[in-house]
Amino acid sequence: MSSRSMPASQDLQSTLREDRVFPPPPEFAATANIKSLEEYETLYARSIADPESFWAEAASELHWFQKWTKVLDWQLPVAKWFVGGKINLSYNCVDRHALGDKAGKTALIWEAEPVANGKAEVRTLTYAQLHVEVQKFANVLKSLGIQKGDRVAIYMGMTPELAIALLACARIGAIHSVIFGGFAAHAIADRVNDSQCVAILTQDTSYRRGTEIQLKRTVDEALAQTPSVKNVVVLKRSGSAVQMKEGRDHWWHELVAKADATCPAEPLDSEDPLYILYTSGTTGTPKGLVHTTGGYAVGTYLTTKYVFDLSNPNHPNDVYWCTADIGWVTGHSYVVYGPLQNGATVLMYEGAPNYPDFDRFWQIIDDHKVSIFYTAPTAIRAFIKWGDHHVEKHGLDSLRLLGTVGEPINPESWMWYRDRVGQGRCPIVDTWWQTETGAILIAPIPGAVPTKPGSATRPFFGIQPEVVNKEGHPVEPGHGGLLVVRKPWPSMARTIYGDAERYKKTYWSDVEGCYFTGDGARCDADGYYWLMGRVDDVLNVSGHRLGTMEVESALVAHPKVAEAAVVGRPDDLKGQAIVAFVSLDLAHAAANTTPEALAALKDELKKWVAKEIGSLARPEDIRFTDTLPKTRSGKIMRRLLRELATNGEIKGDTTTLEDFQGLAKLRETEE
Ligand code: ATP
Ligand code: MG
Repeated sequence: MSSRSMPASQDLQSTLREDRVFPPPPEFAATANIKSLEEYETLYARSIADPESFWAEAASELHWFQKWTKVLDWQLPVAKWFVGGKINLSYNCVDRHALGDKAGKTALIWEAEPVANGKAEVRTLTYAQLHVEVQKFANVLKSLGIQKGDRVAIYMGMTPELAIALLACARIGAIHSVIFGGFAAHAIADRVNDSQCVAILTQDTSYRRGTEIQLKRTVDEALAQTPSVKNVVVLKRSGSAVQMKEGRDHWWHELVAKADATCPAEPLDSEDPLYILYTSGTTGTPKGLVHTTGGYAVGTYLTTKYVFDLSNPNHPNDVYWCTADIGWVTGHSYVVYGPLQNGATVLMYEGAPNYPDFDRFWQIIDDHKVSIFYTAPTAIRAFIKWGDHHVEKHGLDSLRLLGTVGEPINPESWMWYRDRVGQGRCPIVDTWWQTETGAILIAPIPGAVPTKPGSATRPFFGIQPEVVNKEGHPVEPGHGGLLVVRKPWPSMARTIYGDAERYKKTYWSDVEGCYFTGDGARCDADGYYWLMGRVDDVLNVSGHRLGTMEVESALVAHPKVAEAAVVGRPDDLKGQAIVAFVSLDLAHAAANTTPEALAALKDELKKWVAKEIGSLARPEDIRFTDTLPKTRSGKIMRRLLRELATNGEIKGDTTTLEDFQGLAKLRETEE
């Protein structure tokens, strides 16, 4: 559909109330990297007045083998940052600390999923130890003939070796393409073939919610269709039996045992590609975005430093935990490259949040004294659904900062996160960004910017977002429109692998001269950004445009509702009628099972939305479901629900769908 304009319906009430404002907690601000709004605003103004010198200054905090000669070369849509500079991200993540005063500092804490006698396996690596492991594995890659510019697919679970693999590729200039360890063989084959990977790194199995996922077996299936792959390296995780093909498949530990522990980092050109990564596929077929080295290094370094308050001399013992899988961009930028460049202690957890029990995350936070915790709205809604008592069993005293990413967060979930997990003392950073942006573009600086539940607040330094109509003209404050970014920034993707035309068409053609994000947003009178959902998902009811976020947040605000997704179904009278898919809190789902109770509840929810937003937003149809269709990264796939609500069947791309059974069940609930 894509009508790509989204004026707000001023006569409807917004559930995204702008009047709830939380200043940064004073105890947090007192020791933060940036301590006041004035400080943020001054630096922001400077960064916008002269972005190139701002970014150059940030870049100077990193190690360069050779300094750049020009900060930016911009010929829309092709950006080159730090032109002529020579840099290595593996060096900046590891060597800089291992060779400096952080050699003995813990770089990685890894906790396995399986629990025996109440205990899980934990491994830690100091920066000095990580340095050795990364060099050894870089030599392993070289021993297989892998060279600078070669593409290496990585299909692994969350193990320290996964992080080591990324850093080893980056060290020699091989381009990694991480494929989330939950994808099926054909999804692996598509991605491997798209970029002609020469090798695949994998594991025998990985653990997830108490079961062993057969990674190597799935890779074997994919390998039947991937002629470019010459070598497969297999990490022994569980010791499960796997087939090894002579000459092609190698055991990780055997190669590492033979590898030399010295492998100097290759001085790479600032614009040498670092990795390829496919988007989540929430709106369509995934796109293989290419990120390069220098600009991405600077963007991830600086955003991690300021948004997560790392490299903070007042907090040398921070333990930082981003729960994202490294298979997604959040894992690339905020498990590996951002925090390690900042010399942080990074926690990695292998498995599911509800194994062996619903409080595993809270247990981990207490056990390892996690101080900075970054997760997704889908996880937060699951915690709420499971019940507060799981959280309340734990002290969580070590936490000082909380973050969220991946979808707009419903204000109700935001409040719960703040009150229950953060106990009111932790600022919440709602971070808006994309695979394409490489790093966070909109988020509060936690010691400086007051927060409003449901808003990603204000732009990061050097970033100029804008809400415009489809002609590219700014809309009035408070009105909805297309979220665009006017100027290039260092960590932006450079292209779609092998398809520069598609890159230009997808991101640089809708609004002239601007990067178009695909998201709808509203900017309020205080300059706060409210993400409204995907432009393609916008509802149009009797000529009124509504963001999916508005109606969903109203539903989630109802005490019995855990999660909701709304879509539009064509309607002769109204243009579109709203269909809401609703999942209830566990306790309420158990108490409302009879058809009469469910019918009454539907009625109650319709009235509730009408009262919260206005009668226009009243759902025509409500369907209860245990699960909503989500991408494997946890985002609601409204496009599938829209198809289901419209045609009663689904023909769109489902390769990135998490749970096929859930979708099948949803079909059955159709009326
Ligand atoms: P595809 O582009 O293939 O449809 P995707 O957009 O889900 O997949 P990602 O790059 O992982 O792939 O996700 C970026 C998108 O996630 C953003 O465009 C936005 O819609 C949503 N998003 C991420 N963080 C936030 C946030 N804090 N608030 C609102 N939306 C967010
Ligand atoms: Mg996207």
